[in-house]
Amino acid sequence: MTRRDQMLDALAIGPQWQHRDAAPARLPENPNLSLLPDTEMTMEPAAASPATAADVAGRHTDADIAGMDWNTLQDAVGNCTRCNLCRTRTRTVFGAGDPKAKWLFVGEGPGRNEDQQGEPFVGPAGKLLDNMLAAMALRRGSNAFIANVVKCRPTDASGKDRAPSPEEVAACKPYLARQIALIGPDIMVALGKTAAVALLACEPSIAVSKLRGVVHRYGELPLVVTYHPAYLLRALVDKRKAWEDLCLALDTHADIG
Ligand code: SF4
Repeated sequence: MTRRDQMLDALAIGPQWQHRDAAPARLPENPNLSLLPDTEMTMEPAAASPATAADVAGRHTDADIAGMDWNTLQDAVGNCTRCNLCRTRTRTVFGAGDPKAKWLFVGEGPGRNEDQQGEPFVGPAGKLLDNMLAAMALRRGSNAFIANVVKCRPTDASGKDRAPSPEEVAACKPYLARQIALIGPDIMVALGKTAAVALLACEPSIAVSKLRGVVHRYGELPLVVTYHPAYLLRALVDKRKAWEDLCLALDTHADIG
């Protein structure tokens, strides 16, 4: 058993995860794969209420955001009122990791635990993501940055996590675009459908299974799509496919030289 196999075995994501010799051609769609959304809730934006002076101050324009440095961007996200998610968040979640990382992982948005702690990917899904990073010889804060498409927690009428609406994604996207520009990664990994759709501007109804197995482009940047760790916690059988995706990303990054 190789060192990597031992590591994957220890992380309970092997040993069936094997590094391929070469990047695969586009993988056939699994007819049995009924891809769950990253969250299973309905997509109802929070109800609007009258704007306050703080709301207006936090509505940074796209042009403002595009010219911000890292610290200004962090402050802007912390005070942002560009969408109604500001009304229900506990804390914004800017992202975490090395701001000069070569690897950028992008997820959907904060859930309950992230909203409380202000950190992306905490709890069981975060633990699995950390394991996936370790299997790639990466870790948060060392050549990897983890961000989300939206920086505030989307909740439904009953207070449960839900996927962000297209309007919320559009409102928050300039922050992610500026993060990408400032970090300057070599490669990006989209974790789940919401991130893939936002970064690749593809049809919202497309399945992750249709996007994985090939190297996409975000501008000039190579981008690989894989499953969201929260989905993998529910669909253990797809961990092998996720490892194939990460191997494709590793191979792609190695080719960059
Ligand atoms: S989700 Fe993004 S755009 Fe909406 S309030 Fe939070 S930081 Fe601002």
